[in-house]
Amino acid sequence: MTGKVFLIGAGPGDPGLLTMRAADLIARADFIAIDALVSDAIAERAPKTAEVVYVGKRASKHALPQDQINQLLIDEAKKGKIVVRLKGGDPFVFGRGGEEAEELAAAGVAFEIVPGISSSIAGPAYAGIPVTHRSHATSLTLVTGHEADASTGIKWEALAQLNGTIVFLMGFGNLPTIAQKLTEHGASADRPVAVISKATTPEQRTVTGTLADIESKVVAANLPTPALIVVGDVVKLHDVINWFESKPLFGKRIVVTRAREQASELARLFEESGATVIQFPTIEIAPPESFDSLDVAVDKRFDWLVFTSTNGVIAFFERLFAKGLDVRALSGTRIACVGETTAAALRARGIVPDLVPDKFLSAALIPHFDADLYRVRIAVIRAAEGRDEFIEEMRRRGAEVHLAVAYRTVPVALNAGELHDIDVVTFTSASTVDNFFAAAPNIDGALLASIGPTTSDAIRKHGRQPDLEASVASIQALHDAVVHAETRRLRGSA
Ligand code: SAH
Repeated sequence: MTGKVFLIGAGPGDPGLLTMRAADLIARADFIAIDALVSDAIAERAPKTAEVVYVGKRASKHALPQDQINQLLIDEAKKGKIVVRLKGGDPFVFGRGGEEAEELAAAGVAFEIVPGISSSIAGPAYAGIPVTHRSHATSLTLVTGHEADASTGIKWEALAQLNGTIVFLMGFGNLPTIAQKLTEHGASADRPVAVISKATTPEQRTVTGTLADIESKVVAANLPTPALIVVGDVVKLHDVINWFESKPLFGKRIVVTRAREQASELARLFEESGATVIQFPTIEIAPPESFDSLDVAVDKRFDWLVFTSTNGVIAFFERLFAKGLDVRALSGTRIACVGETTAAALRARGIVPDLVPDKFLSAALIPHFDADLYRVRIAVIRAAEGRDEFIEEMRRRGAEVHLAVAYRTVPVALNAGELHDIDVVTFTSASTVDNFFAAAPNIDGALLASIGPTTSDAIRKHGRQPDLEASVASIQALHDAVVHAETRRLRGSA
């Protein structure tokens, strides 16, 4: 039994630009050899069962010489493994994929090539530069800038004559030579040039200029690598099409403090708006010490079920379904909940809540209940820790209130080291506030964003002022409030 090697392009950096074929093969791989330019978010997709080696040339990580990489791929495939060779961009665009494929063919090892989205095209695209355009460029030439000063290879007169677009990869260190050679061979000194650094990542930066002044502009901007160079009239379109770097939260570092299980939706919204999300889950959802009180709410009939969070909904229905029951067991029971997200979780399970107050606060339910609740049976499904105001008031009005503990929130061990250069910290519950400030009491200069009044109160208890509060208790509203505040802050500083 022999295995197979897949030479896979992992795209330019943005994990969303990985192809479906690549994602599928990574998930099935036994052995993965990763190049330097492959983003961490893609490397993290490796299954736990796969052996992962970094063969890239990054200073901090081990680099293997090319012949040893080839041998490694051959050896692992001969053991019968699915071997994935992950390269930045496209494997055949200055990626040495050709050499590796030749070696595999010579060794008689089966292989496939999975093309990737090359930085040479995606980088300009993310900088708002179409590499061809009917009015500006009829050709695209990809050139290695690595050998710019060697006499071999590059035909500078030919390049200088081209009216199309030229993209130089591996040319950043040779930028002055490249500009000089093109001008020497007849290109106009005012030909537009762009240098795009860390393309398709949240740290992307684009500097534009001309063959005459690009070098001084790039030095002034202190651009980091990897970077690629685009020469041609299409660069002028950057100012018009620059869509990526102009996203409302582009370049912002935003902390999401929810439990990891719940953070993904909020993180996705912020990432769509261009932010880098730092997941800082201060709490974890754990099962209750005992299911006894939750089982009472599931087994007995109540007049009202009150859900104060999505986690309560999830735990209640898991328990209900585990007992072989379904929503019909709740017919005739009225259902109240706090927060739009909680309501959505109920609707997803086939329940349209009878009562959702405007505010994200269990006390906001109180005015909706009758003054006389004699013998009305109410079950409140929530975390072990929580506010008792609603429960006490219902009891005062004569209700029989059952507290069903559906889950616990427990603090997790934190690493405050990631919390540098933070622009915004988002809080979605009082407990995330307390745990966050316990771990990072000295956070300064960041906007504090709260999902609602209870969470804002918790922030004030720590001697801070929330900078913004969501208009309604939903993840979307919290995101929108952050976008609004950051847009204002930007205008204020401009
Ligand atoms: N096979 C890769 C290119 C490898 S050569 C591809 O198709 O993209 C490495 C060069 O690619 C770097 O020197 C740089 O010029 C360019 N490059 C790769 N990723 C980049 C990125 N995210 N931003 C800017 N340039 C990048």
